[in-house]
Amino acid sequence: MSYQHQYVDGTPIHFPLGKAVCIGRNYAEHAKELNNPVPTEPLLFIKTGSCAVPLAGGFSIPADRGAVHFEAEIAVLIGKPLSRSPSAEEVRDAISGFAPALDLTLRDVQARMKEKGQPWELAKSFDGALVLAPFVPGDAVEDLTDIGIRLTLDGEVRQDGNSRDMLNPILPLLQHIAAHFSLQPGDVVLTGTPVGVGPLTSGSEVVLELVGLSRFESRVL
Ligand code: ZN
Repeated sequence: MSYQHQYVDGTPIHFPLGKAVCIGRNYAEHAKELNNPVPTEPLLFIKTGSCAVPLAGGFSIPADRGAVHFEAEIAVLIGKPLSRSPSAEEVRDAISGFAPALDLTLRDVQARMKEKGQPWELAKSFDGALVLAPFVPGDAVEDLTDIGIRLTLDGEVRQDGNSRDMLNPILPLLQHIAAHFSLQPGDVVLTGTPVGVGPLTSGSEVVLELVGLSRFESRVL
């Protein structure tokens, strides 16, 4: 299934998803649960636009590459070009939407790559590795430092985070990213996952929420 951005009311967003820029270890409690040091500078990586799939109707996971972990994250949709150290005001003005997303991760593959000091794309950017829900408009969120992200798996809340606990809050994070990678309309920034990650299995029921803003039910096919 090909992916196209849309708002929660079903309106299509006619920007292509070029790339998703992601941050690792942006919540201290999550860094600890994987026995990773808390980085002194944002740890960035990229998922290709082609690995995105919509959350609606269910999504597939690889069956033969070890553990597939869920990482629920707040996704920020870029609506205007950003590059070369934009101001916080320019960044805020360029945000077109917010959605919950899953940064699916082949955890066993990633562990091997981390051990060898290799890049993470095989673990992070396989087809289907970015699961995106529809967006609420950018102006639907008043306080970017108080956005709740929650994942419920088979009726049990597994991740329940808030952007207030980010080591790099959304606006400074986007400023930092745009200083290194030009962001284009349609690009997405994944802002890191709170504590509680774990393996997904086929048949599981998934509920993803931006608390009080949007809520979506889906399942692992
Ligand atoms: Zn992640």
